[in-house]
Amino acid sequence: MAIDPTLPYDPQNIFAKILRGEIPCKRVYEDDHALAFHDIAPQAPIHVLVIPKGAYVSWDDFSGRAGESEIAGFVRAVGHVARQLGLVSPGYRLLANVGRHGGQEVAHLHVHLFGGRPLGRMISP
Ligand code: AMP
Repeated sequence: MAIDPTLPYDPQNIFAKILRGEIPCKRVYEDDHALAFHDIAPQAPIHVLVIPKGAYVSWDDFSGRAGESEIAGFVRAVGHVARQLGLVSPGYRLLANVGRHGGQEVAHLHVHLFGGRPLGRMISP
């Protein structure tokens, strides 16, 4: 079910638990600002989630409250992961769902990184 991105950050969301090491993930990359791991239900040959380490619900929340170093660190981490996975030359897609219309299910900001095959139309009808 989609989350309400206007609610305060819930520290019990599943990605907060992954960040605290309470549940496992298949880690791809980690630095001071971000963690990247494989999606548990991949929708492409490569489907990785990149999340900031700070407590932010959505892109809107992050862009409004995060500090410059957090924002720069997170954006750089997304690019780093794409390069690390060899996706720059074939290409890839980034997606950040927000709220009900975006279909956001986990209330911690995450960017989906898809690749490994031609990805078709930008959004379904
Ligand atoms: P969204 O709809 O943008 O909120 O996407 C949430 C994503 O998190 C979905 O693609 C899920 O498959 C993924 N997901 C949920 N739980 C886990 C988990 N424990 N480890 C990795 N990915 C997960």
